[in-house]
Amino acid sequence: MSRKIILLIIASIIGLIALSLIQAQLIQNTYALRKQAFIDKTSKVVGKIGSYGTPIDSIGDAISSVFLKDLDKYSLRMLSKQKLLNRLQKINDSLNPNFIKEYEKEIRSKDLGYDLKYHKTLQSLVLVDSLKSDTIYFNNTTTNLKLVGYDFKNDPELRLGTSTWETNRTFEKKIKGELKKGDYDVVFKTINYMNIDGWNRIILKEMRGLLIFSFCIFLFVIGLFYYSIKNLITQKKIADIKTDFVNNITHELKTPLATLGLATKILKKQEQISPIMKSTISTIERQNVRLQKLIDQVLNNSLGYEELVLEKHKFNSTDFISEILNDFEVSHKDKVTLKRMISSENLKLNLDRFYMTTAIVNILENAVKYGTNKIAVQSKINNENWQLKIQDNGIGISKKNQKLIFNKFFRVENKDVHNVKGLGLGLYYSHQIIKAHGGSIQVESEKGKGTSFTIVLPLK
Ligand code: ATP
Ligand code: MG
Repeated sequence: MSRKIILLIIASIIGLIALSLIQAQLIQNTYALRKQAFIDKTSKVVGKIGSYGTPIDSIGDAISSVFLKDLDKYSLRMLSKQKLLNRLQKINDSLNPNFIKEYEKEIRSKDLGYDLKYHKTLQSLVLVDSLKSDTIYFNNTTTNLKLVGYDFKNDPELRLGTSTWETNRTFEKKIKGELKKGDYDVVFKTINYMNIDGWNRIILKEMRGLLIFSFCIFLFVIGLFYYSIKNLITQKKIADIKTDFVNNITHELKTPLATLGLATKILKKQEQISPIMKSTISTIERQNVRLQKLIDQVLNNSLGYEELVLEKHKFNSTDFISEILNDFEVSHKDKVTLKRMISSENLKLNLDRFYMTTAIVNILENAVKYGTNKIAVQSKINNENWQLKIQDNGIGISKKNQKLIFNKFFRVENKDVHNVKGLGLGLYYSHQIIKAHGGSIQVESEKGKGTSFTIVLPLK
């Protein structure tokens, strides 16, 4: 596999991973938002249960009135802390079945659609009298003393919040005939928890649509990625096979053609041949030469500029260009007039004469092929570069096609020029040669008016 394809696969995989991470982050955020909304909604419902005047409220009152009597005893040192707490637990335990019954009734009436359990635990109990503040109970862990409600393990995520009950108590009590008085403040803090069976599942179920959609999109992108890469590799293989095939076949064709050329030459040298034979042999020779040229062109064009081996020498620019133009004029005398604007400066060009001549001749030949009768050639120095501009008044090239003409095998589809033959390799080859020399070629053209090609080569 070529380096380019491997890089492409790596880049695509990185892109895919990045996209997946973003997607996962989005899903996680949605989950967190939905969870919060779910807990808030349920908390609101639970918060309304046990409000003033309900049976649950009266159970709370019953508990507090009995417990306050025990607290009175505690304040008179008639009960130990542990005993007080045991009694608190007992009062709650005795009223708990009632609490659960009433609570269930309430929850059922709310029609939540899922099973919700609830309990109240003691967080702290502080008694303050004129002398001191006495912390009877304090626990900030999650295993607080359970008061009323169901038994379950506390889940910090489903904590509903705390509630505080504060009251000022004055009492008079007859103990063994003696009247005792007391005055204290009590602060009773509770934490409330709820428990919903499989609450994570409930939220995920709500997000089912989003999850399925995300998964499908992910599969679709992976599929698309796999299909594109597979296609790319197949196409690359086909292109390689094609290039190999063209190279081999052209090579194989050259030997019989050379032999054919030799054979026609021998035939031509024969003295006693009829005029018909002579003209037939000439036709065979001409076609043979043409075929050889075409094969050479195809063979050369399978090379990219990096593979061209240049044999550079120094040449005088005026001589170099004049020689090409003189030869060109001889063969196209009747078709075009040539205007030369050659700078008289004696420039030394360092180039491969054979290749550069081919590059320039391809452009000149194109001008003739595509409707020109006047060509202007300008050679000059511009910013340490040698600039050769070849301008024609032919059919011109549209903006869209200007970008494509240097591609291998590209030919403009032209209904007006049916008889112009070509392989679409001339400009590709010229471009490769100029690139191999470290130069560049630009095209400017207007459809119907003409085209100008500018070759720029560095002088150094
Ligand atoms: P080949 O040169 O391989 O025999 P070709 O001339 O079709 O074939 P190129 O020289 O690469 O191929 O040119 C590509 C295309 O660009 C041509 O088919 C032609 O449509 C367009 N083109 C090139 N030069 C000119 C020009 N001077 N004026 C108008 N069109 C041009
Ligand atoms: Mg051409």
